[in-house]
Amino acid sequence: MLQKAREKRATTPIAVIGAGIAGAWQALLFAKAGHAVTLHERGNDAMASATSYWAGGMLAPWCEAEVSEPLVTRLGLRSLALWREHAPDTPFNGSLVVAHPRDRSDFERFAHMTSGHQRLQCDEVSKLEPSLDGRFREALFFPDEGHVEPRRVLPELHACIRAAGGQIQFGSAPEASGIEALAIDCRGLAARDTFPDLRGVKGEEIIVETDEIVLSRPVRLLHPRWPLYIIPREGNRFMIGATSIEREDDGVSVRSALELLSAAYAVHPAFGEARIVEIGSGLRPAFPDNLPRIAIGKERIAVNGLFRHGFLLAPALAELTLGYVARGEIDNEVMQCR
Ligand SMILES: Cc1cc2nc3c(=O)[nH]c(=O)nc-3n(C[C@H](O)[C@H](O)[C@H](O)COP(=O)(O)OP(=O)(O)OC[C@H]3O[C@@H](n4cnc5c(N)ncnc54)[C@H](O)[C@@H]3O)c2cc1C
Repeated sequence: MLQKAREKRATTPIAVIGAGIAGAWQALLFAKAGHAVTLHERGNDAMASATSYWAGGMLAPWCEAEVSEPLVTRLGLRSLALWREHAPDTPFNGSLVVAHPRDRSDFERFAHMTSGHQRLQCDEVSKLEPSLDGRFREALFFPDEGHVEPRRVLPELHACIRAAGGQIQFGSAPEASGIEALAIDCRGLAARDTFPDLRGVKGEEIIVETDEIVLSRPVRLLHPRWPLYIIPREGNRFMIGATSIEREDDGVSVRSALELLSAAYAVHPAFGEARIVEIGSGLRPAFPDNLPRIAIGKERIAVNGLFRHGFLLAPALAELTLGYVARGEIDNEVMQCR
């Protein structure tokens, strides 16, 4: 997969454009490798215009193997190591997959399509997640998966970039052609001017608050119509997500809200009494094959198409970009020369 290219670039100043999860990891690894890095973000430091703001933040390469190509698993596994190395506080409590008895065939299919899990019986599920006591006869436990809270981890990564000597400019949207540095374009969906085949895949989510349920890890409910996950957040909050709809409007439909909340209620009826804190959606940037791409040009490298795996894949993609710039390494599965 990795080839040595003839051309080698010397240590060059780097301008990363877009401070979402893709750009943040690019800036971090380049700054740590000793490059002079400036990260440009057109929004402000709240990052609310980034898709990354809306994400669940699951780092789940084994679970995602059910619906993804082996490339996602390969890069995802490498990313887990990079999260551990560069963000050692990242929680790796694993994830849990459950189904109701009538959806047993979905459960067995998921077990068959994935690896890296242990089968837990009802009492073992209760030990791991006491709030789920008696609710599921069986579960799949993926012990090595992690999750981050996007709205906390983005500022943390930005602080790490500064600590590594990088600069961040919010409210800055430079033209790549006007930059006297190697530009790494991480603009997400805004990069359609250079990638006409990039599309947005809508993901809707709801955040609720309740002190009647405590979870320590993401829980996925398999369901033929409403597969969903519930991710614990700080302050007794839970993110319930996420739909995957081939549409590019924002907002959340009544139907999606009903489905997400019904599925959460099916995981635990106490969600019926929870307070709704937020209903929102983001557009996942995706190429037609739903795989990430590093497009290499002379003065610009573009990293995009992270689809439903931005938090999972961004570290490994940054490492590959750095390997190309520093040593001319080419990963044929991810890189394209333009
Ligand atoms: C509901 C939902 C749940 C998800 N859950 C998960 C999950 O659990 N795990 C996971 O791994 N992934 C998840 N994802 C996917 C993940 O969010 C995306 O893959 C990821 O956010 C894409 O990151 P990005 O940095 O490419 O784009 P973005 O986050 O959109 O960042 C691009 C940034 O570029 C900036 N920008 C644009 N144009 C310019 C310009 N000209 N100059 C300067 N800045 C510019 C934008 O303002 C933006 O901040 C989820 C997505 C959604 C919607």
